[in-house]
Amino acid sequence: MENIQTTAFIKAKKSHSIKRFHPWVFSGAIAYLEGDPVAGEMIRIAETGGITLGHGLFTPGASIAVRLTHFGEEAPTERWWHERLQNAFDVRLQLNLAGNDSTNCYRLIHGEGDGFPGLIIDHYDGALVIQVHTEGMLHYLDGIAESLKEIYGDNCTSIYNKSEDTLPRSSSLKTTNGFLFGDETDGKIALENGLKFNIDWVNGQKTGFFIDQRENRALLGSLSKGKKVLNTFSYTGGFSVYSLAADATLVHSLDSSGPALELANQNVALNGFEGDKHAVIQADAVQYLKDIEEDYDIIILDPPAFAKHLKARHKAVQGYKRINALAMKQIKPGGLLFTFSCSQAVDKQLFNHTVISAAMEAGRKVRILHQLHQPADHPVNAFHPEGEYLKGLVVRVD
Ligand code: SAH
Repeated sequence: MENIQTTAFIKAKKSHSIKRFHPWVFSGAIAYLEGDPVAGEMIRIAETGGITLGHGLFTPGASIAVRLTHFGEEAPTERWWHERLQNAFDVRLQLNLAGNDSTNCYRLIHGEGDGFPGLIIDHYDGALVIQVHTEGMLHYLDGIAESLKEIYGDNCTSIYNKSEDTLPRSSSLKTTNGFLFGDETDGKIALENGLKFNIDWVNGQKTGFFIDQRENRALLGSLSKGKKVLNTFSYTGGFSVYSLAADATLVHSLDSSGPALELANQNVALNGFEGDKHAVIQADAVQYLKDIEEDYDIIILDPPAFAKHLKARHKAVQGYKRINALAMKQIKPGGLLFTFSCSQAVDKQLFNHTVISAAMEAGRKVRILHQLHQPADHPVNAFHPEGEYLKGLVVRVD
């Protein structure tokens, strides 16, 4: 058993969400603390009468004061994370992702969805990249790395901690990026549905690749033959590679970042598709969409999260509406728009409404053909619906 030294007593009327297994305790729900917990400490949560409600990781000063890892009487054991990591790995095996020859990148741990609040682990052909978002998980980093080595055995080639910039700015604990095991500093070439991608977790955005679009990229591929495609916010060129593999006649990858476009070019070349059919465009997406000259059959809008928190939601919605209205105005009649939002603060309903109001503004007839979401290796804990973050629509614009 872990040695638990602090108890947070919950106000009488605030315990119901914990009893429904919601893993967040807001600071306002705590009546008082018995003990003096340090940042990230594992503490006990109890009703004022004394009954244990669960255990979780404490973040002093934060609005989400505790993230529960254990509910009810179950107390954290010495290596509580090990069994959960094994369980998450078993789920990826069940999903035919672990041990798959044509897709060797997948998410192993998706925060609350896998019972690890504040932890992300992505897998690229044996390389594991860890991102810690809360102080609590930082305490377990070395233990988690040891468990990963045990679970993957010889199939684990390296483990990289990329949490320097993902801990909250107010955090009193710090960490530096670096290898916890191995040293694959040049990254890896990983496979997704048989297509090759150069993954550079050391220098790249996030853990190096946006694994969450795997199924949506495959759908795009299935609709791309003979089409002219504009991939805005292209980053590694994931969507572009799928369109080229499916015999699109022209693919433009657009990003404001030069290094991102270099990556896109590399990935296109890696798959043998370099040539006239693909070009990169360094531009601001809004500016380019305003002045489009090409008649694209398919436009992809996959911007970064416009709303990182609730306060930014209104502005984010305006941003989504703007780019969607522009793309709808410009797309060829009968064309397909693949539009996404990865902002957690903008839920599915709000996103759909925003796209519909963009259609009204554009004055085009729009039909929703597909409603898209994050794939199964980004599971949503049924008691924590906030874990659903990626939303997308494929709409036909007449
Ligand atoms: N679609 C990508 C992920 C997009 S990440 C994939 O499938 O992997 C978001 C990208 O948007 C980043 O590469 C960033 O450089 C780019 N970006 C951010 N603001 C932009 C803007 N105003 N115009 C064009 N690109 C932008």
